[in-house]
Amino acid sequence: MKVLVLNSGSSSLKFQLLETDAASAAAGTDRALAKGLVDNIGSTAVVRYEPLGKPPVRESSEILEHKIAVARSLDLLTRPDVGVIRDRSEIEAVGHRIVHGGEQFKTSVPIDDEVLRGIEDCFDMAPLHNPPNVRGYRAARDLLPGLPQVAVFDTSFHQTMPAEAFLYGVPHVLYQRHGIRRYGFHGTSHRYVSARLTALLGRPADDPDLRLITCHLGNGCSITAIQGGRSLDTSMGFTPLEGLLMGSRSGDLDPAIILHIMGKEELSTLEASALLNKHSGLLGISGLSNDMRKLLEAEAAGNDRAKLAVDVFCYRLKKYIAAYVGVLGGIDALAFAGGIGENAAAVRARSLLGLEVMGLRLDEARNRAARGVEAEISPEGATARVFVVPTDEELLIARDTYRIVADLRSGKKPEAPA
Ligand code: ADP
Repeated sequence: MKVLVLNSGSSSLKFQLLETDAASAAAGTDRALAKGLVDNIGSTAVVRYEPLGKPPVRESSEILEHKIAVARSLDLLTRPDVGVIRDRSEIEAVGHRIVHGGEQFKTSVPIDDEVLRGIEDCFDMAPLHNPPNVRGYRAARDLLPGLPQVAVFDTSFHQTMPAEAFLYGVPHVLYQRHGIRRYGFHGTSHRYVSARLTALLGRPADDPDLRLITCHLGNGCSITAIQGGRSLDTSMGFTPLEGLLMGSRSGDLDPAIILHIMGKEELSTLEASALLNKHSGLLGISGLSNDMRKLLEAEAAGNDRAKLAVDVFCYRLKKYIAAYVGVLGGIDALAFAGGIGENAAAVRARSLLGLEVMGLRLDEARNRAARGVEAEISPEGATARVFVVPTDEELLIARDTYRIVADLRSGKKPEAPA
């Protein structure tokens, strides 16, 4: 089945056309036929498009709204010289990345009016993400009328967290009245990586004893403790700001700091939000860049602030890994994913340094050699095994979409993806 996957952000649209079905998903041979990005929607947008086996396209033009961006994607996918399908009718379903599903959505679901209302109910909690996600959905519904559309939530994988992990130490009425709790994000990535880890270990998918830690380290970073395929705890919280140090987000900090700084610097809430989301993290500490690769280069060239930023990043990650080994009562395997996790051997080594006591060790040569590919980086015979696992959120969205559409077609109630 050919599935269009859309990830619609406030001024960008990522799209992929993937081919998947039950047999190819089980064999791991399902794949993307084309990938693309429309960036800077609302102004002069840049379109990048990479079809499998054909030359890439890069163009720029005025694209003022998401519907035009989706239309442009469909044009590219069907263009005789660079297209991967003859016409739109070959697309059988659309899968959408939806950032926030609140407590309502514990699995991926086909989108109908009620689901749409539920996604809109979460606008308050994800004002920057859910509204553009819905814009992408409406555009696809208008341009591909009659096709089934499926919502895959960043939060749903973490809905298995127990109350002790998701509650904050604030008056309970704030949870009851305003939904103030930890939700966690990057769920699609953590679910994909944990399923790959389970397969790499040769363990059954529902093995209740399997204890895994997955580290998604991209521009946004989060880490999850998983037992028996269920998320027990994760580092992002009410918003994607909590937890690990990130490219430009602070991660954990004493909440009193922000009250203090708002008073001292006379910041508005918007300015305070920008301070923590856009000017903090690796960028804030180094004063140089939010990009880990650049910071590692600068550190090697003797830049102290770059070193400091990388040190804080690795130290925070180490603290979380150790805490999650405690949450799980031990560990069978850990995976590094995301641009940093997949490529930065030095970050992997520095964040595991000192955790030998928990059985976490790296084989230096294997670690150095693993770049952007699935590979074990722990030594032969290790009890706690460590892997690099390139993540693929779009593939999982396509698989969920396929599964739900296949169930709908066969008259079954759509089965909750594991
Ligand atoms: P996003 O979260 O936006 O999808 P990515 O997963 O692509 O981002 O991760 C981006 C991060 O990965 C950046 O900090 C970048 O510097 C880092 N990265 C990519 N390649 C390397 C590399 N070879 N060495 C170190 N860091 C890298």
